[in-house]
Amino acid sequence: MAKRGRVFSGARPTGRQHLGNYLGAIKNYVALQDDYECVYCIVDLHALTTLDEFENLRLNTAEMALDWLAAGIRPDETIMFVQSHVPQVTELHTLLSMFTPLGKLTDLPTFKEKVAQQPHNVNYGLVGYPVLMAADITLYKATVVPVGVDQASHLEFTREIVRTFNHRTGKQALLEPQMKNTEYPKVLGTDGAQKMGKSLNNHIELASTPEETQARVMTMVTDPQRQRRSDPGRPEVCNVFTLHKTFSPNELPMIDAECRRAGIGCVDCKKILAQNINTHLEPFRAARAELAQNPQHVWDVLEDGAQRARAVATETMAEVKEAVGLP
Ligand code: SF4
Repeated sequence: MAKRGRVFSGARPTGRQHLGNYLGAIKNYVALQDDYECVYCIVDLHALTTLDEFENLRLNTAEMALDWLAAGIRPDETIMFVQSHVPQVTELHTLLSMFTPLGKLTDLPTFKEKVAQQPHNVNYGLVGYPVLMAADITLYKATVVPVGVDQASHLEFTREIVRTFNHRTGKQALLEPQMKNTEYPKVLGTDGAQKMGKSLNNHIELASTPEETQARVMTMVTDPQRQRRSDPGRPEVCNVFTLHKTFSPNELPMIDAECRRAGIGCVDCKKILAQNINTHLEPFRAARAELAQNPQHVWDVLEDGAQRARAVATETMAEVKEAVGLP
């Protein structure tokens, strides 16, 4: 079937993925493969802009790639690779930086946030982050970039750089990517208050054992007004119920009704959730265990992806260098 365009998306190597990553991004990555030619990049260079320690970068890259493959990324069709394995991206980053006003970069709210978060490490790469992102997208001739509402301004920035580059060089060497508005659900962690994330230790790893998953689910914060078993609950404020919406479609009406009349206790409600998450993840976990038996396989997949990515990158760089008149 003819594809509707080429999608690019990148994610930092954060190691083993959790439910938040899965529901917020990976599921969508897998689904996009049906309609688009997909280029999925593990952006290790981006990760360096905020890391204080580097020793886990390789391990985190392999673990994340393993999770992507087990979740259904099809490396025969999709180009899945590591950002730094295609050095042309840094070359394009340098060239695009000449077309990017510095003031715009330092004015970006995301830059200011990072400065506030890591005042001890305001590095040059942090300022140029959106330019490297523009290089990622344009190097692989992506026509479509899936973005959530909060990232729309980043993509607009890429589009601006492309327009400036093409206008000033008088050539159309770079493609202006279209935005594909995508709803990325914000998945709260076990604390029920903050976005699920490893650094907050409020996450549930996809590759956990069923027992570990159940133990994590049992710690989940529920409706704070439900102090006693006999107190009626409010599913709409409970993060356990939010996850039931994805993992327990059949039991959902029952849980909704029984929670409100205190017919079900939170412990039993969580046991149902843990059971359903485990059932849902069973095929993923089986596939992951099989893939993990051959650790070299994941690196072979990433190298194959990098080779295909480099072929596109070489073409783009030839056009870009010609456009800017490099001898
Ligand atoms: S019964 Fe379930 S939905 Fe209701 S408050 Fe407890 S955990 Fe939440």
